[in-house]
Amino acid sequence: MKKVDRDKDFESALKVNQGIEQPSSVNPAFTSGVDRFKKAKPSVQSFLSGIRSGDRNFLGQAITLIESVRPDDKSLAAELINACLPFSGNSVRIGITGVPGVGKSTFIEALGLFLIKSEKKVAVLAIDPSSTRTRGSILGDKTRMEELSVHPKAFIRPSASAGTLGGVARATREAMLLCEAAGFDIIIIETVGVGQSETAVAQLVDFFMLLMLAGGGDELQGIKRGIMEMADLIVINKADGDNIMKAEMAKREYENALHLFPPLANGWIPKTITASALKNTGIQQAWDLISNYLDHTQSNGFFRSNRHQQSIHILKDTITGALNDHFFKNPEINNKLRLMEEKVLSDQINPYEAANLLLSDYFNKQ
Ligand code: GDP
Repeated sequence: MKKVDRDKDFESALKVNQGIEQPSSVNPAFTSGVDRFKKAKPSVQSFLSGIRSGDRNFLGQAITLIESVRPDDKSLAAELINACLPFSGNSVRIGITGVPGVGKSTFIEALGLFLIKSEKKVAVLAIDPSSTRTRGSILGDKTRMEELSVHPKAFIRPSASAGTLGGVARATREAMLLCEAAGFDIIIIETVGVGQSETAVAQLVDFFMLLMLAGGGDELQGIKRGIMEMADLIVINKADGDNIMKAEMAKREYENALHLFPPLANGWIPKTITASALKNTGIQQAWDLISNYLDHTQSNGFFRSNRHQQSIHILKDTITGALNDHFFKNPEINNKLRLMEEKVLSDQINPYEAANLLLSDYFNKQ
């Protein structure tokens, strides 16, 4: 989407040649109007009713607001999240991970379109903390999810493009609440399965799915054992053409490997299936397994207790985030921190001592 730089557009519209004196004001009211327009944000109430009415523009704007790091946006964002909370929590939250190229977006498109056919509304969010470095979000490529992205019953949002994993995960969690308030029944959270982000996603979702390829070998695919242990379902994708036999073999290997893992706390035995996101096979089976999982965990109480555990995580994470901000955004502390960094670098003080000095300074001022 093209980002409009209002200041730039405004300047260019009033461009004057050098040497020609510019009138002190062409229309001062217009200038201040532009400023006002720039700053004007819908109120919490209008955000809420826009979101509740399913207006995707409002939803998009609201997510931009909660991703904002500007201090004056933060209180509005917090109010908005509070206002949306009573309408949230009713979706099925699905995490999907796998290495780049495994077929995540093709699979999500196929699954999303399948779900939409059964009258569901589907939102896709992404966690990609690396996007600041790679300058491209995993959902940024416009050719991805072509059909789903324009479907009126779908909403696709790339990852917040800035910040730490913790910050991106927090923004995604809040975006998820807003999507739920907007009436989306299924929220898919996509993440690239190469780093730490899977653990963060597992904290957000009800069901965790890992996409794999046949014949790659775990090491080659960069998938760590820990990620496999978190999976409720492993999908061997690209099971089509010459690859079908290999995919079936891989399925058996993964089934055997999963047997060696300790049983999951929820009593669910992780499943392995083959699928072809491209040929649209295995999609229904994946959804049937998700439905079975939901029945299983809703009847044994795990679904609720897992969501409660996630709430406790949110509680602690919110406190950690606020303390972190309060400490690191304090200008005085920041100056002292820089001095301490220099001292540590020149071996005048050890890092523990430096941290203790800064902390006691900080706490004494509270
Ligand atoms: P992502 O990086 O994990 O999101 O992977 P993509 O969905 O972008 O897919 C990477 C490439 O694999 C694309 O060229 C897809 O067309 C192709 N692909 C995805 N799913 C399948 C599949 O089931 N079978 C085959 N043969 N190719 C697939």
